[in-house]
Formats: sequence, structure tokens, C-alpha cells
Amino acid sequence: MPKINENFLKIPASYLFSEVARRVNEYKSANPNNNIIRMDIGDIKLPLPAAVVEAIKKAADEQLSVATFRGYGPEQGYEFLRETIRDNDFRARGIDIESDEIFISDGAKSDTGNIGDIFSTNNRVAITDPAYPVYVDTNAMAGRAGEINANGQWSNLIYLPCNFENGFTPALPGIKVDLIYLCYPNNPTGATLTRAQLAEWVAYARKSSAIILFDAAYEAFITEANVPHSIFEIDGAKEVAIEFRSFSKTAGFTGTRCGYTVIPKQVIARDECGNNIALNALWNRRQSTKFNGTAYIIQRAAEAVYSSEGKYQVKQLLDFYIENAKTIRNGLQRAGFTVFGGINAPYIWAKTPNNERSWDYFDYLLTEHNIVTTPGSGFGHCGEGYMRFSAFGKKEDTDEAIRRLIAMYRNSASMH
Ligand SMILES: *Cc1c(COP(=O)(O)O)cnc(C)c1O
Repeated sequence: MPKINENFLKIPASYLFSEVARRVNEYKSANPNNNIIRMDIGDIKLPLPAAVVEAIKKAADEQLSVATFRGYGPEQGYEFLRETIRDNDFRARGIDIESDEIFISDGAKSDTGNIGDIFSTNNRVAITDPAYPVYVDTNAMAGRAGEINANGQWSNLIYLPCNFENGFTPALPGIKVDLIYLCYPNNPTGATLTRAQLAEWVAYARKSSAIILFDAAYEAFITEANVPHSIFEIDGAKEVAIEFRSFSKTAGFTGTRCGYTVIPKQVIARDECGNNIALNALWNRRQSTKFNGTAYIIQRAAEAVYSSEGKYQVKQLLDFYIENAKTIRNGLQRAGFTVFGGINAPYIWAKTPNNERSWDYFDYLLTEHNIVTTPGSGFGHCGEGYMRFSAFGKKEDTDEAIRRLIAMYRNSASMH
């Protein structure tokens, strides 16, 4: 009999969003006529920009004729897209990134999950708590996380607590680490790092020979000037950082699937003999072996995000979500919640009113107010006592949810 990878058995069976779905479905079947509003979901509601759909149709038509049909493409992505990204996302911001430092993929989930392939299982890994679950789970699958305890924390991971006291920005690790996952603007807390704060992390990584795995999936939601869009805005980051980007939340690609990873040629790590190995070449080797490229049609769709119509239409999408986030943030405050985020991110992180546990408060909001949120504890131990509200919903639904929460607050106030 073949043996399985035992690491999979150590990971808690129920993925956060499956448990949310299970509880919602159970409530729905018992109460089929209730108007349930979903503010849990990380999936966007608005359709693709017209310029993107036009590009998809045009690229699809090309597949009808021998002259323009495309088969296997370059594993790293087509040059037309990599150059467009280089010019728009980097050079336009004064960042010197070459097109062969950009790897196109089917999204940031795959890349943040797969990047561990090129690192030894002996590395010590630091992860913020709370965090996007992919970082922890993929390290556990690789056998890099050790054993899990009753709090759901892994013995070999170094957790960087993000809490009320530190304003959801983590302190530098107290011990030597090799890899550091940072995600800013943050999912789930909506927190950001200023340019000065991120510079401290880069300086730390340089001093201690660590590599920062920087997830910038939400950079397009940044509204404040002192918040960096890319870690490569920071001097010296090109030697110590890998950056992940996604078209999902920016341009509605959650179902269309496209993202990219930037690995500058200067980023190095050591082999067993102490030789320096460039991670750009290693990732290229990994992708060429395990990945056959993102569909040509989809890469044309991603290219259209940077056309002048595309940029205008994406801005409309973002403005809508940013406005929604503001409505939720202000509404929750009026309803008496202590809130964070929602200014440079589509997520609002709210404290439960009386320190209720996240899942208890989830059940309360679901059954009493028919509002679905994501329990903060699902993102890590330090998320306990918080709820994540998403701004990706429809405006009518967002407004209605806020009405319900403010009414809840009035009722509870009149009881005292
Ligand atoms: C949504 C999300 C991603 C995944 O994006 P895809 O490109 O759709 O795979 C990556 N990182 C974070 C933090 C996210 O919230």
C-alpha cells in the first residue's frame, strides 16, 4: 500500500470557509425565507471590466485560425504581459524591475503556496498572527511547521502577534528566522505598514539574512500616500524580498485567474555547501517543471487591465469597494464597534462588543441579524475576539447590513 504525506493529517480538517458555509447552509435550510447578507466572502461581486472581456473575446477569436492560434506558451508568461507589468506596476513608480524577474501565474494563492518548494524544510519561518491561512497550511504540508497544539499553533513556526496593543503591526522577531511572510495591506485586519515601517523590516532582513515573502494582493486598495504599493519601493529590498501580486481583487479576476510573482535576480539563499544560489533561477526551474503557463487568453485579459480603458474601469471598481469599506467602517463605529482597517483595504476588522468569542459572535450575527461575517479566530489565535467584514458585497446589501447593526445597537442601548 502507498503511504500518504502524513503532514496532511496534522492539518485541521475543516477549512475556515467550509465551516462558515456549513453553518450558513444549516441556518438557511431551517429559515428559507430570511434575507441573509454575506459580508464574510473574499469574493468580489462586480463583473469584469469591459476592456478585459473585450480582450478575452479578441484573444478567443485568434484561436480559430492557424496563423494566430497559440499552443504552449512560455512557462514564465508572455513577454507582452511581463513588459506591461514591468512598465506600469514598477517603472512608473520608479522601481527598476526587469521583465525576467516577473513570473506570470494563475494567481497569488498558488504562488504563495508553492514558493516553499524552493526552500529547505529546515528553515525557520515567521508568520503574522492572524494571517491568510495559505501561509501556515502550506508550510505544515511541507513538514516545515512541526506539530500543532490545542490553540492551533505549530511548534516550529514563529508567530508574530498582531493585536490591539501594537495596532496590528507586528514587532520584529525576537529570534533568528529565515523566511518572513508579510501581507500588506493585510488580509484579514486591513492594517498597513507605512514606508518607514516596511523599511525597518527590510533592514532587519538584510541584517539577519532573512527573506521576506511579501503578499501585495491588496496594493490597489491603498488610498494613503505614505503606504508603499510594492516592497521594492524600499531601498535594499531587491536583495531580500519576493513579492506576490494578484489581479483577483484588483480587477475582478477571482474566477478568471491571473497573478504574478517578482523575484529579483539579486535575491539569494544558501545551499548545503554554503554556496549562494539565485532564487530567480530556482523558481524558474520549479515553474518550468511543474507549471505550463497561464492561458494566453487570460494573459491578454490581464494586459487589458493596463490599457487606458482598463485602468479607468478598474478605478471604478476600486472606488466602489473603497466606498463600501468606508460605509462599513463608519457604520460599525456608529453601531458601537471598535474597528480597524477599511481605509487602504477592502476588509474591516472589528472587535466583538463584549469580548465574545469569534465563533459565538458569528452565530449571534447569523441567527439574530442574518449577517454572515468571518470569525477572526479562523485566521489565527490572535484573531480570537474579532470579526472580519468584507467590502466586496453589493451596495444595497452593505447598507441594509449596517442598518441592522445600528438598530441592534439602539435596541441594546435602550435596554440599559
Ligand atoms: C485573495 C488572496 C490571495 C489569492 O489571490 P488569487 O490570485 O485569487 O489566488 C492571495 N493573498 C491574499 C492575502 C489574499 O487575500
